[in-house]
Amino acid sequence: MHLNPYGEDAVNLAADLVNRRPGSAGELADRCRAAGLVLERPVTQQDLDRAHAVLDAWEEVVDAPDDHRRAELVNRMLAQSAAHPRLTDHAGSGWHLHYRDDRQPLGAVLSSLISVGTALHLAGRGMHRLRRCAVTECTTIFADTSRTGRQRYCSQRCANRDAVRRHRAGRALSRPASPAGAAGP
Ligand SMILES: [Zn+2]
Ligand SMILES: [Zn+2]
Repeated sequence: MHLNPYGEDAVNLAADLVNRRPGSAGELADRCRAAGLVLERPVTQQDLDRAHAVLDAWEEVVDAPDDHRRAELVNRMLAQSAAHPRLTDHAGSGWHLHYRDDRQPLGAVLSSLISVGTALHLAGRGMHRLRRCAVTECTTIFADTSRTGRQRYCSQRCANRDAVRRHRAGRALSRPASPAGAAGP
């Protein structure tokens, strides 16, 4: 994969995998391929296990209470996965940087891709740009790559849902409840 300078593809892949966890090695392979990863080796159960461990760690990064804790958790992921950077043309589609050794199994590839991509995303766009949807019952995680950095919902559907709810709550507040309730100072 050509990791773009802001890590956008990597954080989007992580969010996709964490929101709907792959159930088999085959599904993991298909979804990584669909995201643009070039798979150099057969994908095994070990890769799936490693992927789930990486996604567990990533979810903790998303739910970190503040920037320092978030940075600490990302640094821990980086320490467990990243090798020295190297230029490669392994897919024959252009020279790009890898932050891992050559010919790694998919689990290891995801570990370095997601940790380095997340570090680039947070450093490049802002430490707050990973979060869960603002709708209380929706736990979907997304990477905020918007221009303003103020995306609150995982989807247009959730944005609409919340708008309807706020509208109803507003009407309930402005309606006089009872003569007693309306009495003010
Ligand atoms: Zn590559
Ligand atoms: Zn949502």
